[in-house]
Amino acid sequence: MEYAHGRRQFLKSTALAAPLIASVAREALAQVPGDRPVRPKSAEVLNPRERVPVSFIIDDSTCLVNLNKFAMPQFDAAFEGANATYHRNWREWSDEIPDDFVRKFGSWCGEHGVKGKYSIVPYPACVGRLDRELPGWSPRDLQSSLELVRTLMTPNWDIHPEMVTHTRVIDLRTGHPFPDRSLKFMENWEWTTGRSTDEIADYLRYALTILKNVGLNCEGITTPGGFGTRALPQLAQASLVALRDIFGTEIPHYFRHLYDEGTESVAPRVEYASGLDGADPRCVVSIIACTGDWTGGWDNSPPEGVDRFITADGSRGRLVDVIRRGEPACLLAHWTGIWFNGEETGFRVFQEVVHRLHQRFDHLEWMKLAEIARYWAARELTRIESTDKPNVMRLTAPFSCPGFTVRFDRRTEEAPRLLNSASPQGLALSEVASSRSLRSGTWRREGNGAVLCWDLAKGINTVLL
Ligand SMILES: [Zn+2]
Repeated sequence: MEYAHGRRQFLKSTALAAPLIASVAREALAQVPGDRPVRPKSAEVLNPRERVPVSFIIDDSTCLVNLNKFAMPQFDAAFEGANATYHRNWREWSDEIPDDFVRKFGSWCGEHGVKGKYSIVPYPACVGRLDRELPGWSPRDLQSSLELVRTLMTPNWDIHPEMVTHTRVIDLRTGHPFPDRSLKFMENWEWTTGRSTDEIADYLRYALTILKNVGLNCEGITTPGGFGTRALPQLAQASLVALRDIFGTEIPHYFRHLYDEGTESVAPRVEYASGLDGADPRCVVSIIACTGDWTGGWDNSPPEGVDRFITADGSRGRLVDVIRRGEPACLLAHWTGIWFNGEETGFRVFQEVVHRLHQRFDHLEWMKLAEIARYWAARELTRIESTDKPNVMRLTAPFSCPGFTVRFDRRTEEAPRLLNSASPQGLALSEVASSRSLRSGTWRREGNGAVLCWDLAKGINTVLL
């Protein structure tokens, strides 16, 4: 969310910056990884199907309400009018981002294989709770808008709360905003500072429950603005317990961090892993975006444009850099600017980005954030061991994972065979010539080794090379 320089770059522009960046970066980096299994050097888990995951992260979306029209004056008041960032012409903005546009956007993305995350702010800017009433719209409007999300969006998009209102903090005892309007009681700013994991988890549970009440399932949460900036360990743990409690989520994830330039890794971080060998393995995955919002922004600011993502010839741009190093490329945008008061400026920028990506690369895999989180949890937490037989490897997986791809530094002449709970009789993998044809149930030769791809089952997976 939303400061002059956008969500995650806030830190760069304030005097607080330097020590805080260092401490936040250090803390974010040193987030507690938890348990990790041993691994032989002869086995390496690769990207899913040897493709680079890409995903589209959309913030500030919800049903019908053009969130930031209503949020802007609340942000301005929180700064007592002293922050020019919030002196925008919000009164001229449309109240609504219509379902017709959601349908147009969702259909276009479906046709182009795009997947990602789509926030549904549960009580947008205190306008109304989606599971109660949305003043300004009829109950039927609200129901059909929710139905559209359930039917058109959820197949390809994770649904996240962000958090409850994206503006004022709700007093969970009354269901109303706290009377105090200062930054200490604004979700984007200081409320989480000094709060315990339990307090933050209670707040996340409240947000998640509203979405559950309207028939939406969540496997992750998105932090609004600087929510959690000075409470990162508590935020990570609160995400883990709240998503498990409300939705029984096996692998919770959260979206808080972004690096829009440089060499900092943007690979997901698997945190607080524990109980890997037991009946209830746990972890939480931090998903990291690799771009700023260069589409239309949270506040309808002129887009920085397609070239920052990828140039027309596909040779340069932030996405090109990240894809080249084989890390997941999660790009960020805000629904406000995608719609851009009906000019659809951000949508057009995004459409061109997709065209250029598909022209330039033939090894991308569009994935929901939950799918990326699951792959990275399996990648980092599956134990891989040699056995007393040289051509037999045993993998012990706390989590199942489709399209699990491993390179074994062992030559094999025969088609490798796989035994697990899904294939107790054994499954012979079929050989393909190149990584472009790799999919679950296949393998390919590579140098003195072999790359295998299969649907990893939870528990023991035995590989006969
Ligand atoms: Zn936001």
